[in-house]
Amino acid sequence: MIYDMAILESILTCPHCGYVKQEIMPTNACQFYYECSGCKTLLRPHPGDCCVFCSFGTVKCPPVQMHSGCCE
Ligand SMILES: [Zn+2]
Repeated sequence: MIYDMAILESILTCPHCGYVKQEIMPTNACQFYYECSGCKTLLRPHPGDCCVFCSFGTVKCPPVQMHSGCCE
């Protein structure tokens, strides 16, 4: 699938220390774990979210943006 309509840049905010970092989202897989660069906490998605970008990022992950779903 081509994600040329999707936004790939997301700004993640750590819920523990508030550290903000811009990341490029992978289009071929969902990122379930993300280590905060500030406090080194391993973040996991909220229940019902498929990846850390959906839970902590400014935009949803590419598969969700394209309404294709992911991680089924
Ligand atoms: Zn943190």
